[in-house]
Amino acid sequence: MLMPLPDEKILARSAEIVAALRKIVPGEGVVESEAGRRAYECDALTAYRTLPMVVVLPETTEQVVQIMRACSEMGVKVVPRGSGTSLSGGALPLADAVLLAMGKFKKILDIDVENRCVTVQPGVTNLAITAAVQDQGFYYAPDPSSQIACSIGGNVAENSGGVHCLKYGLTTNNVIGIEFVTIDGEIIRLGGKHYDAAGYDLLGVMVGSEGLLGVVTEVTVRILPKPPGARALLIGFASIESAAECVADIIGQGIIPGGMEMMDKPATQAAEAFVHAGYPQDAEALLIVELDGCEAEVHHLVEQVEGLAQKHSANSIRTSHSEEERLLFWAGRKAAFPAVGRLSPDFYCMDGTIPRRRLSDVLLRIRQMEGKHGLRVANVFHAGDGNLHPLIMYDANKPGELEQAEEFGNDILKLCVEVGGVLTGEHGVGVEKRDLMGEMFTETDLNQQMRLKCAFDPQSLLNPGKVFPQLCRCAELGRVHVHGGQTRFSELPRF
Ligand SMILES: Cc1cc2nc3c(=O)[nH]c(=O)nc-3n(C[C@H](O)[C@H](O)[C@H](O)COP(=O)(O)OP(=O)(O)OC[C@H]3O[C@@H](n4cnc5c(N)ncnc54)[C@H](O)[C@@H]3O)c2cc1C
Repeated sequence: MLMPLPDEKILARSAEIVAALRKIVPGEGVVESEAGRRAYECDALTAYRTLPMVVVLPETTEQVVQIMRACSEMGVKVVPRGSGTSLSGGALPLADAVLLAMGKFKKILDIDVENRCVTVQPGVTNLAITAAVQDQGFYYAPDPSSQIACSIGGNVAENSGGVHCLKYGLTTNNVIGIEFVTIDGEIIRLGGKHYDAAGYDLLGVMVGSEGLLGVVTEVTVRILPKPPGARALLIGFASIESAAECVADIIGQGIIPGGMEMMDKPATQAAEAFVHAGYPQDAEALLIVELDGCEAEVHHLVEQVEGLAQKHSANSIRTSHSEEERLLFWAGRKAAFPAVGRLSPDFYCMDGTIPRRRLSDVLLRIRQMEGKHGLRVANVFHAGDGNLHPLIMYDANKPGELEQAEEFGNDILKLCVEVGGVLTGEHGVGVEKRDLMGEMFTETDLNQQMRLKCAFDPQSLLNPGKVFPQLCRCAELGRVHVHGGQTRFSELPRF
């Protein structure tokens, strides 16, 4: 994968840059030793690693302002980082950049039950928000499987999702205000405790901006009252087609489950061997449907979904009768990724979204691609949203298998776009899907997106090398003037 080449002039000035950072953040807040920087060399897309030039861990917004201003003035790139759980390489460091780690922004600033919102610093984990309000009967709805570790700042940057997003929306639907710092050190506040704001929807622009537009220093999220009850159904099908049709029918009937997840046979068998949740071993597709609300509503919805499952020839239907049983049904799904890790030394988790109606068709074509690439796939995904997570199994120790897995992943994502879907559901573009952006967007689309980036970050210093294909950067938008043989932006790879 082609990344921007390190700028030798910046590397030569690294001592001066570190000294400038030390004036802003004292003591251990600047990490310069190789051993210290090694801890930050990758995020959860572990196939790619780069030692950052220096890591800085600010504790206050004022320090972020000064770091950004200093980097902007020195022409130094900045890569923001939360907890480093990105699966698309969004927080992958650059050898000539400052890695701005927001892990010390850990405070819950305000719990406002009357306005049903909580204001936190960006390093607070997703789960810590729910933990802070659950005694009062509330919770924060978007629930990525990584919620024990991932930060809310990272969730904002990636517009993260989770099992409950089908009914309660993604991060963008649950964040109502942010504070962020621009690359030249300006503090901007968008939204707040109130809904909607005057002018353009800049909050919508910032959520999902993958660290390319600013560094988020404060987040206000809405919290929801915990539903009084929830029950889960475990439904086994003899074919993926029947399961997919059942999913479409449930949504078509106007039922929006709290969560609706599907696993194929390899994933179901791996999860069962791992947590013994009682999953049917002969099912080609397993559906977990959760229905929440008051008792009468849940009872009514359970009956409706059971009826639809029978209509689509389900082989087995089990409905949870206690909270323990409901959690057990989910335990296998939640452990599906580590469970698949026992089947293969490595796996590559893809993320693409398709129209629900195309589920069975696309899953069949992924199965057919296994032969072409010589690799197996287990499928675990948010069926209700059409958000696929094919887990491509490979062995990194075998030469060429990682590249083969990546090629397989690219074919899957191209297929998602071909059937009317999109390149990502919730994991972001990062470096992983960067070079596929042209599959989905025209040059004009990409130029327009780039113009927006330039409006926030004209020098292209914030998280470069991510999201936009190489040679699709601020420098390319205008005509490049070559004077005396000196090419501007010489670090950009040219083809
Ligand atoms: C096991 C596992 C399961 C996962 N399950 C899910 C899932 O169910 N749903 C889902 O959506 N994702 C999932 N993810 C992906 C990941 O957890 C999310 O993308 C998460 O939001 C990343 O948060 P983070 O704090 O780790 O951010 P990082 O990985 O540190 O950074 C991610 C991106 O956000 C930017 N960023 C981070 N903090 C800031 C900030 N303060 N200001 C500006 N930009 C910032 C970075 O530059 C980078 O581009 C999973 C990951 C793992 C490892």
